[in-house]
Amino acid sequence: MLVPLAAALALSLAAGAPAKAAKPGKARAKAATEPAFVAVIDPGHGGEADGARSPIGEKEKDVALDLALRISRRLKALGAKVVLTRTGDLSVPLVNRAAIATALRADLFVSVHLNSMPTAEQRRRYSGIETYFLSADATDSRASAVAARENADRLAGEPVPDPSDAVAGILTSLEDAAALQASSRLAYAIHERLVASLEAEDHGVKQAPFYVLAGARMPAVLLEVGFISNEAEAAKLRTRAYREKIADAVAEGISAFRGETRRASR
Ligand SMILES: [Zn+2]
Repeated sequence: MLVPLAAALALSLAAGAPAKAAKPGKARAKAATEPAFVAVIDPGHGGEADGARSPIGEKEKDVALDLALRISRRLKALGAKVVLTRTGDLSVPLVNRAAIATALRADLFVSVHLNSMPTAEQRRRYSGIETYFLSADATDSRASAVAARENADRLAGEPVPDPSDAVAGILTSLEDAAALQASSRLAYAIHERLVASLEAEDHGVKQAPFYVLAGARMPAVLLEVGFISNEAEAAKLRTRAYREKIADAVAEGISAFRGETRRASR
């Protein structure tokens, strides 16, 4: 058990989500307009966890939140119910983020991040898009480094999981081919549109052991939508137009994934 259900639901309520079980009158009134799908969008980091920094000190957590809000608006326009794991500058434990999606029986989970490189030379050289889904083993050393950086928030107050506990169990159950395939398809659907629309360097779709994805019981991906550590890319990420492009591409990818999923289930 990662997080008590009540705690996850309380968090989702704090994030502005209507509870499915509460207020039966309202639920009945809404039955005529069932959402096309339920998406949980997870802005990376928050609160004490700033995430990566741009060359002039912009914080990943702030850019990720702004992007998540833009993505949320796009998905709502497509008829989705969208819940954000945080709507402000708040600390949300990594394990609670996917647990919110599980508690809401969400159809998909998308964690939004900005990439970063450690050395000055690499910061100059690396820009572009990298998209991840979960696996117990990292695709390569870069993927391993990204997972280590994104998993570092766990140290900000969460208990270190016992390897014999639920996280390890979930990683094992995720070896279930269908679950991995769905996450893979969602990752590619979004990634291809991001790379094409932003004309950004393509770092590929990769796998790594991300804690934030470990509790997800639905297609779940982690997007690194640009290197905030790269001066030129950070400058693009600063503009409204570029953020809108990112939100459009992510929403189009999700929409295409939903279309494929519906066709496949017929
Ligand atoms: Zn991040």
